Amino acid sequence: MDLKTVAAQQAEHYDSFYLYDESRILEDTARLRRNFPQVEFLYSIKCNSNPHVARCVFAQGFGADAASLGEVLLAREAGLAPERIFYSAPGKTLSDLRQALTQSIVIADSFEELKRLDQICGEMGAAMSAGVRINPNFSFFGGEGQASKFGIDEEQLFAFWSENTLQHVKITGIHVHLRSQELHVPALARYYENMLSLADRVQKALGYELEYVNLGSGMGIQFSPRDRPLDVEALGQAVGQQLDAFKRANPGTRLLIESGRYAVGKSGVYVSKVLDRKVSRGVTYLILKNTLNGFSRPSLAQMVRRFSPEADPAPWEPLFTCRDAFAIQTLKDEPPCETVHLVGNLCTAADIAAEGVELPRLDCGDVVLFTNAGAYAAVITSMQFASLERPAELFLRADGRILR
Ligand SMILES: *Cc1c(COP(=O)(O)O)cnc(C)c1O
Repeated sequence: MDLKTVAAQQAEHYDSFYLYDESRILEDTARLRRNFPQVEFLYSIKCNSNPHVARCVFAQGFGADAASLGEVLLAREAGLAPERIFYSAPGKTLSDLRQALTQSIVIADSFEELKRLDQICGEMGAAMSAGVRINPNFSFFGGEGQASKFGIDEEQLFAFWSENTLQHVKITGIHVHLRSQELHVPALARYYENMLSLADRVQKALGYELEYVNLGSGMGIQFSPRDRPLDVEALGQAVGQQLDAFKRANPGTRLLIESGRYAVGKSGVYVSKVLDRKVSRGVTYLILKNTLNGFSRPSLAQMVRRFSPEADPAPWEPLFTCRDAFAIQTLKDEPPCETVHLVGNLCTAADIAAEGVELPRLDCGDVVLFTNAGAYAAVITSMQFASLERPAELFLRADGRILR
């Protein structure tokens, strides 16, 4: 069934809701897997932790990229084995690490965390393994390495390895993630190639084969009509030989790629009902249910528009991609006939989803749809503000059933 028909039906029950389309998730995840046969994919749960969405992606053979202990446990509850869950985040506490060590593969983000892990393993009287997130000596676009709050600088790590060893923890894998929302095949291909040489350097320094090399994410989706969608097939072809060669040389090493937005970003729409309409001094306002506090990214784009005079300010993922990142649609067949401001029902003037958009005439009870609401949408919320009820989240199964 088409997503708009389902949205129209569900709008009879809900005033604001996210609607995720399983068929689209199946298509997009299958495209990734088909074009990277050498790679195990991990779903970056933080982009959309809806349990139906996460389980759907896991069912397509994805492991988990967990950004918190909570996400480790979510993946465990969804049935993933610990060795398919990679827990990588800055600032893990002793208690996070203690619980995660038996439930996932832990990636240390700093020397402090390596020390904490060594301490925990010492207390447990067990030798354990962990990965390490590296801030490499190259940038995503091939220049020099940058300062970062994530990971350990490559130079510091190699210096450490040449002088010290951890007592109880063995480093068995590496993780790097430098950038999101990249649509350019040569940039991603060069990044992956740089990653494979980093893996070679690490194996030389450690003197043994790594169990996994996590290449992070980077693959973007089409937000603006001006974007050229990422050609995943071309990317798979551009790096296929290097990935194959790496696998041949290191048959025991798992190659991992993380994806949040590419797997689910295009699968979601946000639907919000017109609660009121009014004309004030010549401006038509449509008051929608839950905008800044339901799907905040259109409102954040309005803020950028207000304060940045440039036409195309730089993206700030995952809060801001570009000004036209979300298409606004209605369920009406008529052509646009009026120019309106779409605002929300919060008691603040900053609750603006769009200004000066041309739409067919909408009355109270009609709905507005925002596209590209599958990733970094429901999870980025200021729901506490004004104590309003949150939007529903609905999952449209490929067989047409709706799961709440
Ligand atoms: C957020 C994040 C991702 C997911 O990025 P997408 O652009 O959504 O694919 C992957 N890896 C790490 C380490 C992240 O922090």
